[in-house]
Amino acid sequence: MAFININKENFYHNLNQIALQTGSLEKVAIVLKDNAYGHGLELMAGLASEHGIAHAVVRNTYEAAKIESLFESILILGDKVLKHEKYSYALNSLEAINEAEKGAKVELKIDTGMHRNGIALESLDEALGQITKQGLTLVGVMTHYRSADVLSSEFFWQQKAFEKVKEKVRQVGFENVRFHSHNSAAILRNKHFSEDMVRVGIAAYGYNELETPFDKTRLKPVLSLHATKIATRVLRAGERVGYGGDFTAKEDMTISTYEVGYGDGWRRGDVSNPYVTPKEGNILGRVSMDFVALASEEDEVCIMNDAQEAAKQLGTISYEIITNLHPDITREVI
Ligand SMILES: *Cc1c(COP(=O)(O)O)cnc(C)c1O
Repeated sequence: MAFININKENFYHNLNQIALQTGSLEKVAIVLKDNAYGHGLELMAGLASEHGIAHAVVRNTYEAAKIESLFESILILGDKVLKHEKYSYALNSLEAINEAEKGAKVELKIDTGMHRNGIALESLDEALGQITKQGLTLVGVMTHYRSADVLSSEFFWQQKAFEKVKEKVRQVGFENVRFHSHNSAAILRNKHFSEDMVRVGIAAYGYNELETPFDKTRLKPVLSLHATKIATRVLRAGERVGYGGDFTAKEDMTISTYEVGYGDGWRRGDVSNPYVTPKEGNILGRVSMDFVALASEEDEVCIMNDAQEAAKQLGTISYEIITNLHPDITREVI
């Protein structure tokens, strides 16, 4: 079988690194959307809460309900807006304000330049008026940066625009509103953090996706993917392995089949440029739905222990490598 190890010490190390940037753990909201980036929603929520994290961010009410007891507040990024003691909902459009249930806690998302979700700067007044009229409780105002991870001025003009938004919201007279704009890349590059909260995802799981010119905070990968052996065999020179027989043994060699494949969310990759595991060399031939072949006799092998490294090999980003891992894979804290 395929199995995942979750390194608790590394997770706490990463959270502490973020807390150094924010000034305290209290300002850290852990982003647990998409099964906690493939790490396991309830598992990671439990660990985060145990470490003193009080705020979480998820994608929908379904995810929020599973971890409700563990946090003081849960921000839901996109779902039907309902009244709830602990949940607050990001408002991504003017329509969403009108459809929200009276009494619901909301956090207004402002589009400061990413143009994905959120209310246009010009519509801020209208949105604030609508929130009051609908009887909603504004508990937060937020924005999201489109290029916090690259060295350019874009990050700064978005930040400036958000400063104006803050001023306006205060002027209108809203109180007890938390302002937040930083994701992992933004908090890792910003040495002068002064907001109420960060929404930290990928950095908590151990990856710093910033381009090299930035000061690199050392983070440690939390997740590793492993597989157990099904069978070992000797492959004679000239014999070929797997679907299509894409790998041919140059000489006699011992290989084993391990139980992990694209059915587990591991990537199939490109057989002409095979993925290299941390210790057992490259995957031999094609990745099957549930199996891979390796030149190894070990009972258990590590397939991946650094999603950023794997992403480089497989032509994607760390986020995709980890979020794709199937929720049914056994996850164990080590
Ligand atoms: C996913 C997400 C985050 C977290 O981003 P990371 O780059 O993983 O830190 C923060 N804010 C919003 C709105 C998001 O959707």
